[in-house]
Amino acid sequence: MNKSQIKGLKKASRVIHAGGHPDSETGAIIPPIYQTTTYVQSSPGVHKGYEYTRSHNPTRTRLEECLASLEEAKHAVVTASGISAAMLVMHAIPAGSTVLLSDDVYGGTYRLFTTVFQDIHNFVFINTTDIKEVEKKIKEHKPHLLWIETPTNPLLKITDVKKVTTISKKYKVKTLVDNTFMSPYFQNPLTLGADIVLHSMTKYINGHSDVVGGALMLNDKKLYEKIWKLQNSLGPSQSPFDSWLVLRGIKTLAIRMEAHQKNALQVAKFLESHPMVEKVIYPGLKSHPQYKIAKSQMSGFGGMMTFFLKGDIKKSKKFLSKIKLFSLAESLGGVESLIEHPAIMTHASIPKETREELGITDNLIRLSVGIENVDDLINDLDTTLKAIR
Ligand SMILES: *Cc1c(COP(=O)(O)O)cnc(C)c1O
Repeated sequence: MNKSQIKGLKKASRVIHAGGHPDSETGAIIPPIYQTTTYVQSSPGVHKGYEYTRSHNPTRTRLEECLASLEEAKHAVVTASGISAAMLVMHAIPAGSTVLLSDDVYGGTYRLFTTVFQDIHNFVFINTTDIKEVEKKIKEHKPHLLWIETPTNPLLKITDVKKVTTISKKYKVKTLVDNTFMSPYFQNPLTLGADIVLHSMTKYINGHSDVVGGALMLNDKKLYEKIWKLQNSLGPSQSPFDSWLVLRGIKTLAIRMEAHQKNALQVAKFLESHPMVEKVIYPGLKSHPQYKIAKSQMSGFGGMMTFFLKGDIKKSKKFLSKIKLFSLAESLGGVESLIEHPAIMTHASIPKETREELGITDNLIRLSVGIENVDDLINDLDTTLKAIR
């Protein structure tokens, strides 16, 4: 199939075929890992588009083609990690810019902004789920960039991307959406008005907990070229083997995301009805305060949820030490179920007062629901809850 034919396919087909054309030399259905640093030129400056792997690599190019297709973007840049993708954006905006951002962004993003870029840009944390506050803060701070995570981590707060980008466009502010939690399968922020999409490919896109990687997708050619030049100058390019592994993992993105959300909804309903659970936050539950927005801008609800256990930190620790099928670990988005304690683990870099203001309390537990048999998952939660009663 040629590129325009692939463009017409549904996402479940594009995850397999975009960037997946057979190798032209041998017909190999799986593209080779171009494990090379350099490329032979026929005469000085005459080459086939590849000179040096920090700049370009054919395996990485295929992954970029696939990602651009899935995010409905013209361009994609694959990076060595999600956080290096964020770093490139910080270098791409003029020094001294103001960045407005969601107040419960991913802990590593918070750390990057407040301990590395704090003297270069101004960061103003706001509640992006409140549209009136967004407009008020844009008028007040005249930002260059609005940085949104939706749903947020770990509280799964949802920002109405269409409404927010209508406002940011009015004031000529660029909007970036960190789309890691939904993956390009369930949400496409560019089609909702965003200018840049960021992904940690480490999570759902690769989906097998064996690669760290990131990506930026966008339509603006000039900005893309600037970001690509920064990647070439700063050096956080992904290795060919890691790009190849992501290309392998991404083929099952559609069926994995469907399985994650099917399991997650059942787990959420189980926890919601359990007497030892105070509250469950999952975008697919009607009890989620922004269920309607979630339904309108996402085509699924994903596999991430948090719940508040009735009890104190001791009880949470006991629960987390006893649970078996859910592995106690940071990260998310792999086929195996993970469980963690945001206040001690992923969000420890956020000061305690800020955490408490946000609602990241000591009895908050985050789940990344995997694709195991759901009865086994529920049984594991149920048994562990009984054991700590
Ligand atoms: C993990 C994560 C990142 C950072 O990505 P890395 O690949 O770990 O560098 C950024 N945003 C979100 C929402 C994440 O979950």
